Amino acid sequence: DVAKEKEMREAELMAEKNAVVTNIDKALNWARGHSFWPVTFGLACCAIEMMSTGGPRFDLARFGWEVFRASPRQADVLIVAGTCTRKMAPLLRRVYDQIPEPKWVIAMGSCASGGGPFVDSYAMNTGVDKVVPVDVYIPGCPPRPESLIFGLLQLQQKVSYPAKVRLMKHGK
Ligand code: SF4
Repeated sequence: DVAKEKEMREAELMAEKNAVVTNIDKALNWARGHSFWPVTFGLACCAIEMMSTGGPRFDLARFGWEVFRASPRQADVLIVAGTCTRKMAPLLRRVYDQIPEPKWVIAMGSCASGGGPFVDSYAMNTGVDKVVPVDVYIPGCPPRPESLIFGLLQLQQKVSYPAKVRLMKHGK
């Protein structure tokens, strides 16, 4: 009857206003992208900019990503900040392997992304993506803290909204 219909419509309107409908995966992905815990892994000069990003001036805490961990077992993001030599590569891999799933990697700076100014050196690794899978590359020598924040925002999109990113990339 009319009264019952009206009552149901009111209940629907109330639900639309006050309830968020989602599924567990979407909620988890959203939470992961908004609370990265990076492992402390500074290798060279780029690390100084990474430390600065965590300080009060650039305030990484605004985004919920400021909890740098000393143990890979408590982290989910590996920011490779600096020069990775051939000798360092197995250790980088070990740290990566010790991070529990799901995990993501950012190559911060020219050295980590492709060897940088040391690309012709016999001692250098020409890009950390030969050792670990990289999700985001940040150019620069060194990249400024704003660049690292931008890179983390790209990672946030990738982690929090994977379907949207897939659609933008492949159109399906
Ligand atoms: Fe240093 Fe430049 Fe290499 Fe960064 S990219 S570690 S600033 S040489």
